[in-house]
Amino acid sequence: MSTVLVVEDEPALQVAIGYNLRREGHRVLAATDGHSALSLLAEKPDLIILDLMLPGIDGFEVCRRIRQRSSVPIIILTARTDEVDRVVGLELGADDYLTKPFSMRELIARVRALLRRRELILAELQAQSEAEDQRLVAGDLEINLSRHTVTRAGVPVSLTPKEFALLAFLVKNRGRVFSAERLLEEVWGYANPVDPRTVAVHIRSLREKLEADPSRPALIETVRGVGYRFTG
Ligand code: CA
Repeated sequence: MSTVLVVEDEPALQVAIGYNLRREGHRVLAATDGHSALSLLAEKPDLIILDLMLPGIDGFEVCRRIRQRSSVPIIILTARTDEVDRVVGLELGADDYLTKPFSMRELIARVRALLRRRELILAELQAQSEAEDQRLVAGDLEINLSRHTVTRAGVPVSLTPKEFALLAFLVKNRGRVFSAERLLEEVWGYANPVDPRTVAVHIRSLREKLEADPSRPALIETVRGVGYRFTG
């Protein structure tokens, strides 16, 4: 259920729009002038249907003031097509418009489309902020899995994609020992047959970039005859 603010001074139209939105399952906030429209912004509507010709502050000004505070989708209702460019264009930043007279079915379709777009955007933002939390931390080593960045004591460490994947795998499985063959399988994949010495080369390179003393590694340990493990 979404909350839709309908700003329309024509009573019959206000009622008809409200009726159709409620039938779609939406909560409807009704305003018949600009001032009440702006005060209803506090209710955090998910979408606004805004008539341009309003008593008091007109729709242009209402639209401008909404945009100063919010990116909520706005559908403009207007009787004059020559006004459309001003509101839907960059100047006022409305998202869509309908010229009067319009069909209620068309209005509802536009409402659905904008609400769906907004949902997708919000979901994407949500996913992004969750992804930002995907971090592996081991001591002063921090691996951000979504941004593919590594820092040691807050200082960025530049790794190649394979070095990054190898480190992330070892840290995720810290304490476990993996053979070079197993690491090849996990990090490089079966489809990519590579020389097993590749692992040793990458481990050495990781140590040079991460270890305080690469000749006496404290993070990635070599278990003689078996393989490697992350012990940091
Ligand atoms: Ca009007």
